[in-house]
Amino acid sequence: MKEYELFINGKFIPNGNREMIEVLNPATEEVISKVPKATVDDVDAAVDAAYEAQKSWAKVPPIERAGYLMELAQLVKDNAELFAKTNTEENGKMLCQSTDEAGWLSEYIIYFAQMARHMKGEIIPSDRPNENILLYKMPIGVVAGIMPWNFPLFLIGRKVAPALIAGDTVVLKPSSDTPNGCYEFAKLVEQSSLPPGVINVVSGSGSVVGDALSGNPKVAMVSMTGSTDAGKKIMARAAENITKVSLELGGKAPVIVMDDAKLDETVEHVFNSRMINCGQVCNAAERVYVQEGIADAFIEKITRKISEAKYGNPLTDAGADMGPMINRAQVEHVDELVQSAIAEGAKVVCGGKPAQIDGKGFYYEPTLVVNCKHEMRIMREEIFGPVLPISTFKTLDEAIEKANDCVFGLTSSIYTQNTDVMLRALNEIHFGETYVNREHFEAFQGFHAGVRQSGIGGDDGERGLDEFLETHVCYVDYDMNVQG
Ligand code: NAD
Repeated sequence: MKEYELFINGKFIPNGNREMIEVLNPATEEVISKVPKATVDDVDAAVDAAYEAQKSWAKVPPIERAGYLMELAQLVKDNAELFAKTNTEENGKMLCQSTDEAGWLSEYIIYFAQMARHMKGEIIPSDRPNENILLYKMPIGVVAGIMPWNFPLFLIGRKVAPALIAGDTVVLKPSSDTPNGCYEFAKLVEQSSLPPGVINVVSGSGSVVGDALSGNPKVAMVSMTGSTDAGKKIMARAAENITKVSLELGGKAPVIVMDDAKLDETVEHVFNSRMINCGQVCNAAERVYVQEGIADAFIEKITRKISEAKYGNPLTDAGADMGPMINRAQVEHVDELVQSAIAEGAKVVCGGKPAQIDGKGFYYEPTLVVNCKHEMRIMREEIFGPVLPISTFKTLDEAIEKANDCVFGLTSSIYTQNTDVMLRALNEIHFGETYVNREHFEAFQGFHAGVRQSGIGGDDGERGLDEFLETHVCYVDYDMNVQG
């Protein structure tokens, strides 16, 4: 069994008699590794190291920082197989999906390395005759990167790559369910020529390690991806020092299927948007509103698709559509929502219960729930599992109103061939992202951000990079009469 160590200031810190966390393979419930429970003192040491390192890292020209990022990206590529296997073992996603995710990590690092020569400030004309106003874009300082378990590799990229190219340093905190990939990444950082302290890794609970990071006055920004509940706690803790937060939180993405939607393609996209990663994706299709004229045909086709979907051990059963869920608590949460829907009058068409393979594993049957009403918990709370609830509607107004009537506001989608309907929806749906006639899945160069309780700030693209920079405005008076 692997045992990992905290990574602070370029060195792994021996565990000694430190308390350890056992990490399980969710497919088999076997203990696959132990990782250290960092203390508040460890967190402070990691932040101090990042704080000191940032002073000289900020002075390294961006193109040289890009060189370090390219070196890291190459190391990730060289170890892609190890990352994929580690990810599947601790997270339970299918091996092909872990392989994709390892690829996204290296590609995302390269994408931000390529920003080195594109970062720019502004020069603004002044109201005064002999003055320029200069807007410098400066590094923000130390970034605490607090991560969830559902994309443990890709999220390393989202926290590290924009921070480093901007001139910031990072303390990463992986989820206790999936810390192994992050420590494998730390091993590559140790091997690389990156200066010590630029990237640090500390593991432990959110309530101790995440809390200590969020409340540390030397942390300039907390970039957290995770649940809305944890996001609220982080925001409150960060408020003590007016520390900036960028929070990517939960979602309850509505899918609107209009009568004129292309049926087969729509079924395929909705299925993929729900079932990938066993439904554990922030932008997953969480609730479907289908127009009455197409409802029967849509339900018939998606029933067939979901009832044929198979779960299996993601390391050994390459033919399965999905692996297990992350842990027992998530299985219980999903089942509770399904049971609540039944009690409220909905009907389970297929699936509907927890499952195991050889008496082990945190599986849940791919599930379709129909006759759902907009008011039901299953249509309002984040499911985060392989369960698709469906409701019907009569008019576009009704669908838009129901879509928007939600505490979350991350992603959404609409399926229609009518451009007027599409444009009205784009103007009236109040979400951070909307997909038209395609599955829910964002691009590096977009901007992944939620409204309402789905978050504040955002990731990806130039706007995402901007989150990791601060603006320094300088008023420069010059002598108009000077002669050269
Ligand atoms: P979680 O909120 O339980 O944990 C996320 C991270 O926050 C973990 O590292 C955890 O230890 C830490 N944390 C928890 N409490 C904390 C506290 N009080 N102070 C500081 N840190 C704390 O989330 P999860 O279960 O790991 O992930 C699933 C959630 O993440 C879902 O709600 C999903 O929608 C969301 N998510 C959002 C996005 C997005 O881009 N919007 C992407 C992926 C996942």
